[in-house]
Parts: sequence; structure tokens; C-alpha cells
Amino acid sequence: MALLQIAEPGLTAAPHQHRLAVGIDLGTTNSLVAAVRSGMAVCLPDAFGRVTLPSVVRYGSNGDADVGFDALKAQKIDPANTISSAKRLIGRSLSDIHADENTRFLPYRFGENERVIELHTRAGSKTPIEVSADILRVLKQRAEVSLGGELVGAVITVPAYFDDAQRQATKDAARLAGLNVLRLLNEPTAAAIAYGLDNRAEGTFAVYDLGGGTFDVSILTLSRGLFEVKATNGNSALGGDDFDHRLFCWLLEQNHLSSLPEIDNALLLSLARAAKESLTTDNSTTIQATLSDGTSIATTIDCGTFHQITQHLIAKTLEPVKQAMRDANVRKQDIKGVIMVGGATRMRHVQQAVATFFGQTPLTNLNPDEVVALGAAMQANVLAGNKNDEEWLLLDVTPLSLGLETYGGLTEKVIPRNSTLPTARAQDFTTFKDGQTAMMIHVVQGERELVSDCRSLARFTLRGIPPMVAGAARIRVTFQVDADGLLSVSAREQTTGVQAQIEVKPSYGLDDAAITQMLKDSIAHAAGDAAERARAEAVVEAQSLMDAVNNALALDADLLNDDEHAAIQAALNHVQTKLANAEAAVIRETAQILSKTTDSFAEKRMNRNIQRALQGKKLAEI
Ligand code: AMP
Repeated sequence: MALLQIAEPGLTAAPHQHRLAVGIDLGTTNSLVAAVRSGMAVCLPDAFGRVTLPSVVRYGSNGDADVGFDALKAQKIDPANTISSAKRLIGRSLSDIHADENTRFLPYRFGENERVIELHTRAGSKTPIEVSADILRVLKQRAEVSLGGELVGAVITVPAYFDDAQRQATKDAARLAGLNVLRLLNEPTAAAIAYGLDNRAEGTFAVYDLGGGTFDVSILTLSRGLFEVKATNGNSALGGDDFDHRLFCWLLEQNHLSSLPEIDNALLLSLARAAKESLTTDNSTTIQATLSDGTSIATTIDCGTFHQITQHLIAKTLEPVKQAMRDANVRKQDIKGVIMVGGATRMRHVQQAVATFFGQTPLTNLNPDEVVALGAAMQANVLAGNKNDEEWLLLDVTPLSLGLETYGGLTEKVIPRNSTLPTARAQDFTTFKDGQTAMMIHVVQGERELVSDCRSLARFTLRGIPPMVAGAARIRVTFQVDADGLLSVSAREQTTGVQAQIEVKPSYGLDDAAITQMLKDSIAHAAGDAAERARAEAVVEAQSLMDAVNNALALDADLLNDDEHAAIQAALNHVQTKLANAEAAVIRETAQILSKTTDSFAEKRMNRNIQRALQGKKLAEI
């Protein structure tokens, strides 16, 4: 296995010189920055001692950006100019946003630009990259004040499911904030780093990450100095907020309330959240409120009831867990530890359900809100060269297969799903037509057999292929995915060395729901896809044969008598009639008849070609 050495050349610190580097958990709801101080990773607080920074930015009329708690407070009164959840928008297109339940209803004025999301605020239009940069800028400043110097760089965490565009956009945001990105690190991997080092743990681990709005699960193997993500899965629309919402609905039922004014809904929802959090430590709690029409509410809920009404939400997290385990090819008994990440994993019945599922008590001794930032800080410390005697290795995986479009609209997978990163794979392709001098390379991502069912990532053209007969050119296409999960593709014609390449910066993002959907589709459509693939291949083969026969007829039809010519033409027509709709087997059968019908023609052509080759040559030259 190719291992990646993370300690980068040229970054070795001079003795005793500590280079300042931080880990940043750039979250959907909250962000944190952490650093290793006196050998310990710690989250860095603001001037008020708070370590979390709400990932909310409010834009003022003179172009200023208020980031964090004040912006969060202002959100209710100034929703259009106060941007939260930028992480759900980053690296995605307008149509992605409109198609996504999680983002469709965000109260922003979106611009018309399909490729880059623009949010119209009173300070002008802002992209999610700029919003994220504003958050990162505050964290950078906090770190520099706290650590007393300029940062060498930062490790920034991203969800394991972030695709190329989302990762690239996150990097762009960091650059905009003046941060040197040492590495993008998958969030579960960061959590594993925090636990792996603190506990000196080795083996296969599951990372169960239930945040406010999202759920992610990853299966990793940890051995001393080596982290490898085997598989990832999740649900982008499931988190602590759903527990609040369920409790809010229960509260309405108990008090026979329906369709309240917006202000009452907001009040009850925030009380439901507080009640949920207090039920983590208390056995019961009372929700008290006075609604805008003067009605008073005082409803007591105990743990048992809360657990009962929200159990189905926990059950929903276990499906992605099972799928990730299937993908990683591990059984429950192989899992040596379950790492809990995200504030919602504090809930007792979540911990109980996870314990029952895996047959073991999950690891909860690190703060589930801080664990990702802490792991990122440890990684940053190594990458900055502060730990040169201890080499770290870190391996992640590709969430979806990466491949190419081949003739007939079929995908050829070059890098399969869950391949360990970084990775590079090459595959040889050839030209399909005689004299073909250019080849369009269409890079796609997804599990399905047909290109039309996969996500298009990039297209580029390899030009300058010398004219040759079909199938003679050797075009090597190399896919390379770096440690940050970013893809570059190159194509090289082997005999001439002509080359073309592209760094894939797709204009559309895939969120984890889309990835989950694509995986589900690939399973559901497996049989149909196989038939479709077989058909498409049969069509390509038959067309190739017909082209060859037509070329031969154009050159050497005089070798045939009328009957032979008519028979070949009839066989050609027969194949042609089957191409549009017939099944693979039928197309192959008719192509075989065409092939047989042309046997004697092929023989005559071969004789003629040999005669031509020998003409005028002396025996000694042959
Ligand atoms: P995160 O996105 O990781 O910050 O998680 C936020 C979620 O964790 C929210 O839904 C919070 O209500 C939830 N949460 C935070 N603390 C607790 C707690 N003590 N008990 C239950 N849920 C909590």
C-alpha cells in the first residue's frame, strides 16, 4: 500500500523553534480553532472565554462583517443580511441549492448566477466562500492573539463527503482569509486523530457524528501512526434539530395547539431545544412559556417519554452505519471502539442505542464539540514541523467512483469508490475511428453504468493524435487524487507523447445526500444498468464492425460479385435495424451474421493486400 508521509519536506522546524499552526473546525453551526500548547491540544477561547464561534455573519451597510454571537442574535431581526449555514452552500450551484430540502428555504436573496452562489446583502453580493472567509478571518485573529504570533498555517476540517468543488471552495475561503492551508482533513479522521493519540488506541473504529443538522458515520482503522478511512456514509438532513422539532410537535399536541404565529413557534422551538439538552442530565423537565395571545403553557416531560418520541430518529442513523460497515467489509465484532462526535451525541438514549448496536460503550471522554478541532490541531502541529521525530501517516478515501465516458455513453471507472487517498491510477484507451486526431475526455463521478446517470465533473480534449487506424493509438489517461481529495486528470498519447491535462474544479457540488442517493440508485438499478451496459457495448461493437465493413466496401467492392455484395448489404441493414431498440444478445447475433457473411470478402481482401505488398519485390527482400 502506498503510504503518505505527512511531515512535508522543507517544513522541519529548527530546534526549539515552535511554529504556530492551528486546527480549524469550520462547522455549519459553530466553528472552533485549536492549537497544541505545551504538548496538549486545546481549543482557543475568545476574549469572553468562549471557544465556539457561531458560523454566522451579519453584513452592515458600510461593508463591515459582524461574525459570531452578535450576528446570531441579529439573525431574527435582519435575516436577509445575516448569513448562517454557509457550509451548506459552499462549492455548490444554484440548482443544487434549489433541489435540496436543507437549503431551499433559507431566507436569502440568491443571485441569478447558476455556477457561483451569490447572496445579496446590503454590503453587496457575497459568495459562500467570502462568508466562510469572514468566519475564518475571525478565528485566525483569535489564534494569533492567543498564541502571540503569526500562523504558519492551518489544518481545516471538512465533512468526509465533501466533493471536489466543496473542498476547493473551502481552500479558497481559507486563502481569502489569509490562511495557509496545510491540509484539508476529513472531520471523522480528525476525531480519530484526537482519540488515537490521546488513548494510544489501535484497531478498527467507527466515528458516529451527530451534529445539529447532519449525521455522518465513518469506519476507520487506526494503528500507531496510521489512520485509514475505510468507508463513509451519512444523512445531511438529520441531527439534533430534528429532536428539537419532534419535541416541539409533541408540545403542540399536548397543549392542543396548531398553526401558531411565527414568534411563538420560534419561542417554543428554542424551549424544546433547551428541554432536550437538560434531559441529558435531568430525569424530567418542565417547559414553561407565555404565548403572544397570553396563553400560558407548563408541560412536564420525562426522559422516558422524550426517548420514546425520538427513538425513530436514532433508528434512522443506524441505516447509514450498517451501509458504511458493509462498504468497509467489517462486522460489529471487528469494531474496537466507537468515537462520538457532535453535540447531539450527548443525549443518553443516543449513547445507549449506539452501545446496543455495537455491543460496547462508545468513547465519550473527549468533548464531542471540540474533538474535531483538537484532532486538526494535532495534525497541524505535525505538518508545521513541530514533531519531526514522530512520523504520521494519514489515509482517506474517495466517497464515489471517478471515471471516464467511453464510447456509447458508458462509464469506465478508473478510481473505484472508497479508494485510499492519495491515489493515482492510469488506464489505456484507444481511438474509435480511423484517422481520429482528437479525443474528448469526459470525467465523471458516480456508481452507475451510464454517463447520463453520473455527475459530470470536467471535460477536456486531447488534440494532436497522429492519424492512425481505429484502435492503434494508445492513450493513457491518469487520474490523480491528492491527500485533500482533489482530482487532476491527464491524457497522453503514448507513441507521440502529446499530452493534455486538467485540474478538476467542478462547478457543481455533490452534498452527502446526493452521494447517498447516488449510491442507493446504483444498488437499486444494478440489474437494469448491467443490461443497459451490455446493450451499449453490443451497439458499439456492432457499429465498429459496420464501419469496418463499409470502409472495406468503399475500397475493394470490386472483389465481390453481385450476389455477394447484396448478401453483405442485407446483413448490414439487418444489424442497422436492431441498433435502436434490440437487446444486447440480438444485436450480437446479427453482428455475428454480418461477420460470417463477410468472411470470404475478408479473405479476398487479404490476398489482394498481400499481392500488393509483394509486387515489385525480389524474393531476397521478403
Ligand atoms: P454541533 O453541531 O456538534 O455543535 O451539535 C449541536 C447539537 O447538539 C444541537 O442540536 C444541540 O442542541 C445539541 N446538544 C448540545 N449539547 C447538548 C446536550 N447537553 N444534550 C443534548 N443535545 C445537546
